[in-house]
Amino acid sequence: MGYWNQEYECMPVEQRQELQLERLQSLVKRLYENVPHYQRAFRAISLRPGDVQSLDDLKRLPFTTKDDLRQAYPFGLFATPLKSIVRVHASSGTTGKPTVVGYTKDDVETWSEVMARTLACAGVTSDDIMQIAYGYGLFTGGLGVHYGAEKLGATVVPVSVGNTKRQVMLMEDFGTTVLACTPSYALHLAEVLQESNIDPSRIRLRIGVFGAEPWSYALGREIEQKLGVISIDIFGLSEIIGPGVASECPYNMGLHLFDDHFLPEIIDPDTGEQLPYGQKGELVITTLTKQGFPLLRYRTRDVTVLHPEPCPCGRTHVRMSRIMGRTDDMLIIRGVNVFPSQIETALLELGQVEPHYLLVVDRKGNLDTIEIWVEVSEKVFKDEVRHLEKLEKTMQREIEGILGIGVKVKLVEPKTIERSQGKAKRIVDRREVYKEG
Ligand code: ADP
Ligand code: ZN
Repeated sequence: MGYWNQEYECMPVEQRQELQLERLQSLVKRLYENVPHYQRAFRAISLRPGDVQSLDDLKRLPFTTKDDLRQAYPFGLFATPLKSIVRVHASSGTTGKPTVVGYTKDDVETWSEVMARTLACAGVTSDDIMQIAYGYGLFTGGLGVHYGAEKLGATVVPVSVGNTKRQVMLMEDFGTTVLACTPSYALHLAEVLQESNIDPSRIRLRIGVFGAEPWSYALGREIEQKLGVISIDIFGLSEIIGPGVASECPYNMGLHLFDDHFLPEIIDPDTGEQLPYGQKGELVITTLTKQGFPLLRYRTRDVTVLHPEPCPCGRTHVRMSRIMGRTDDMLIIRGVNVFPSQIETALLELGQVEPHYLLVVDRKGNLDTIEIWVEVSEKVFKDEVRHLEKLEKTMQREIEGILGIGVKVKLVEPKTIERSQGKAKRIVDRREVYKEG
């Protein structure tokens, strides 16, 4: 069944629980000794590392939130000296500053291990030619998948995202068999491929490893049909390690979450109470083995369900359903996390506009687009057209600089954006990414 590490992937559940407890105890000790934030949090509830006696004690431990990460910017939550950190990555935060994560050599090794498992789980082998079209750079997607693919022994083509014509050319000339990218980019690639006059028999793709953003089964089927692949959903987030947290196998029974390294829980996002298997709620993850940047009970804000029953593939890891939504308003546009608050801050700092805006997200030709409608004051609106256009361009540049993706700003007349009665409706997402079917 193509395991990468059968001993750990198929370990009897009770044995894994012992391992998890051992690792949790050592993690809590490390956090207490090395990270002032956690030492304060433990002291506030009079908890000593020795108090963790069973996995059930996990629910007494404090959560970690994105806000904690922001306050510790950039390196405040690292648990080892910077000297032992060999890599940093970052993802967009809720304000202008990104969330920074760090890896020791051992962490890079762990990451490669869980990514190798992910790929093996998807059915990739050392005979495959793997085109990695996730972005390389501060984003964890590219390099994360890359290290796992090399560890697995596949032939890696580190092309990164973009330049679609070249992607298609390499796919044909190299005989790429595995494509790794975001699902929306896969669909875009499929279209470009269809429009080209390449003989389909020259395309040897067989597996698509897609993730970093939500996608429906319907979208998956479309990609499968157009590219001739089976599509596998992979899940991860920078705070926990990057891609490599969980992966589907070809049985399509949810994602195997590598719970010897990442201990998952589901909580009620409003009360923080732990929920039993089978109930939908916010996914919380504790990194059991990470050294440089370990996190205790990190609130991912992703909504899903956990299932303990084993999978026919033989893996005994707990399974999670595909992500069903978010508890916050984070959007993922072309694989990049976008928080409406980032846009709001930028708009208001520039001045000249009213605090009424609407983000219109859509998918055109399979690529995500974002349009920002902003009301300007009566005075500005009556100004010369030239001035309005200039203002639009300035805002566009400013916001693009913050988000790192292209946007379109559209200034609208005062009072055109609907006023809400309660919670402001700031987003119109026409992509319906979380929809089943
Ligand atoms: P990554 O680089 O691993 O995508 P980010 O930290 O930039 O990490 O973004 C992580 C977020 O992306 C997750 O919390 C989740 O909301 C979303 N995400 C990642 N993979 C998936 C997936 N397969 N399905 C749905 N959402 C996903
Ligand atoms: Zn399976």
